[in-house]
Amino acid sequence: MLPYFQSDFLKKDIQYLKGIGPKIAKKFRDINIFTIGDLIFYPPLRYEDHSDIKKISESKIGESATHILEVVISKIKRMRRRNILDIKATDGSAYVHLIFFNRNFLAEKLRPGDKIIVYGKLSIWAGALQITHPEISLFEDNADYDCGIVPIYSTTEGLRQYVFRKCIKYFFSIKIEINDLFPELVKNQYLLLGLDDALRQLHFPESIQLADAALKRLKFEEFFYFQLGLMLNRKLMDQMESPILIGDNNLCERFINELGFSLTNSQIRAWERIKRLLSDKPPMRALLQGDVGAGKTVIAYLSLLKAVESGYQGVFLAPTEVLAEQQYIKFKTRFGHLAEIAFLSSSIKGKKRGKILNSLASGEIDILIGTHAVIEDKIEFKSLGMAIIDEQHRFGVEQRERLLKKGENTNLLVMTATPIPRTLSLTLFGEMDVIYLDELPGGRKEIKTFVRSPESLNAIYEFIIKEANAGNKAFIVCPLIDESEKINLNHVIGLYEKLSSNELKCLDVGLLHGRMKSSEKEETMNAFREGRYNVLVSTTVIEVGVDIPEATVMVILDAERFGISQLHQLRGRVGRSGLQAYCVLVSENTENERLRALAKTNDGFKLAEMDLKLRGAGEFLGTQQHGAMDFRIGDLIKDKDIMFMARKAAQDFINSDTELELLKPELLDFLHEKFGLFHERMS
Ligand code: ADP
Ligand code: MG
Repeated sequence: MLPYFQSDFLKKDIQYLKGIGPKIAKKFRDINIFTIGDLIFYPPLRYEDHSDIKKISESKIGESATHILEVVISKIKRMRRRNILDIKATDGSAYVHLIFFNRNFLAEKLRPGDKIIVYGKLSIWAGALQITHPEISLFEDNADYDCGIVPIYSTTEGLRQYVFRKCIKYFFSIKIEINDLFPELVKNQYLLLGLDDALRQLHFPESIQLADAALKRLKFEEFFYFQLGLMLNRKLMDQMESPILIGDNNLCERFINELGFSLTNSQIRAWERIKRLLSDKPPMRALLQGDVGAGKTVIAYLSLLKAVESGYQGVFLAPTEVLAEQQYIKFKTRFGHLAEIAFLSSSIKGKKRGKILNSLASGEIDILIGTHAVIEDKIEFKSLGMAIIDEQHRFGVEQRERLLKKGENTNLLVMTATPIPRTLSLTLFGEMDVIYLDELPGGRKEIKTFVRSPESLNAIYEFIIKEANAGNKAFIVCPLIDESEKINLNHVIGLYEKLSSNELKCLDVGLLHGRMKSSEKEETMNAFREGRYNVLVSTTVIEVGVDIPEATVMVILDAERFGISQLHQLRGRVGRSGLQAYCVLVSENTENERLRALAKTNDGFKLAEMDLKLRGAGEFLGTQQHGAMDFRIGDLIKDKDIMFMARKAAQDFINSDTELELLKPELLDFLHEKFGLFHERMS
């Protein structure tokens, strides 16, 4: 989210800098550098220490060092299905082979006679010296740097390292004043460099330590403002008045009595906490986290009914039509006598839609369940008191805001079945009350999970038949195997046809995929739920929320194609009753790290931590929420210590009396821009 631009000069187009013409400017834009500020705050990917250049003959085997070499000859070999690029190079003291796997394109770039700077670990292979996958830069790029610490920027074809340095150097030579808006107090307490110092050390470091200090300052600042924004937001929200949902408890009590089971301790605790938040004046902003099957939906329904018995309406937003419809049918059939419940999706059109819109606006409908269709502009509630978002990670921040605009300071509960590790939840949901459901409803057994190679498929089908004969049901999930929808469709249909006429012909097999009309999907799901099918061959449309108690077997084909969280979600489709359930992950690679992890544990939090480490925050959260995480310099995972420090600093800052006065107006503007709601309150 850096940089907030203090000086107008930093907001100018990159082309404004001397030496940058339209061509270079386009290259910069390709890597998201649009303005001068973007460039100045662009952190190097890494640094090379050229102050310590060694001759090859002086280096020890197994030691990493920097060398200046000349390319002698490069060759591409093919071995064990891999392309190996072998660049022979020398510094006059000895020859060394630089080895790259599957990087043939480098051969074009490194021609005999080129001088290069190489950093890597020396080894011996077949009697010759070699360095495998060294870091390489062209010497001429670094001519102005033949000693010292050299920043290496992540760049694009045709944009050379020295262009970065030339432009940045020019910037510093014209003595533009950059105001450091970061509060002195915090800077002093956490021993952070001043902004000007930090930027200079970032690009022209005097030592690796100073480069680190520069990075720390910028990361700290970035996290600090993010946290500060969340906290200020919260503080302002605490002064707002939301619909107070106390109610007479009539509906909630009846609901609990009719459930047919008693709430788990964890559910009771969560509900008590939510009831308290709902009866308070400030709007509730709660995040309900609980593993698949932990019973979040019950809490959601209670919250909706609490709104109704308090004279307000409620809305439940689900990510897909299948899920929304399933929630609707379940809720309506069992509890339709408690409140007026309606369903809305984009496939509901014309008169039917018009009627729903009218009854929503008049207040006839108490609870609306639906997809994105419920946040469209035309949709108006009479008095919305409670908004729920299921599977929040499927929605963007903007959609959340649009939902909230349907009411006045309305209460919000977001739910997630992908457990969010603390590092992330503090950052993304810092302003929210985080509530955990950390107990699975009674009698639930661990899902036994196996990793098997495709050779075992026949045995797996036998097992499915056995389970089906005992009255249980199975899912067989196909991954997306191709970018093309058509190929994927053929794949899942092909499998369905094969299984229903061969391996599983003694059973009733159904087919479910994303291209079916929603009425067909619904019909298929109903048939499966009612037992007209024993087996459902499906794409991932069955993902989250699908609830079939007798489903005991989940077979996932080509399982290595899925991420950990998705596999865990899919697995959660079975074992939702007291029956022993099984999950079989089928893969050519039975040693796959992720699959092994799933076989080892059912603990969603452990798996989420691992997933986060493997994939990084952006991937973990998915594209929808990427925007919320667009830290320029900081990385939530790698820099989590700095994040926690910055959070503490932001907390202290907010709690101190001086606080906001210390923030310069430009900075407030920036925070407003970044945090929409906050902006509304301030202006
Ligand atoms: P989640 O949304 O957290 O994945 P659900 O709310 O769909 O989980 O609950 C999963 C299943 O467990 C549902 O069939 C639900 O009826 C059942 N369930 C929920 N709470 C309890 C409970 N306290 N005791 C027994 N079963 C429960
Ligand atoms: Mg759910």
